[in-house]
Amino acid sequence: MGKHDRMDTFGVTQIDQAAYDKKLAYVLKNCKCKDCPTYVPGDANAGYCFPLIGTSAKIQKEKDCICKTCSIFKEYELNHSFYCTRCSQVCQMSKSEGPAAHGN
Ligand code: SF4
Ligand code: SF4
Repeated sequence: MGKHDRMDTFGVTQIDQAAYDKKLAYVLKNCKCKDCPTYVPGDANAGYCFPLIGTSAKIQKEKDCICKTCSIFKEYELNHSFYCTRCSQVCQMSKSEGPAAHGN
């Protein structure tokens, strides 16, 4: 098992707002979405893997996902893709492995 909680990969349930903002800024600084062929220029924010960012309002079509080349992906041991269209790491994890995957 990795060092990160699989249902709270970024540890956001254990930190206050200031720490959340700091971690978000760190993710955005390192995020590679803006170099990705799927990304639509002008979209408000990237860092779609991070909780509460939400999916993109502009991206309609999945082309390629370069998350696997991102330092955040490696540092936080992420294992999904297309966070911009499919929702965050924790969201996709809970869909595929959590209670929602069992009919709820
Ligand atoms: S893993 Fe993907 S969405 Fe998350 S910060 Fe890196 S490039 Fe952005
Ligand atoms: S989440 Fe993946 S597919 Fe979407 S813009 Fe970022 S790198 Fe590209």
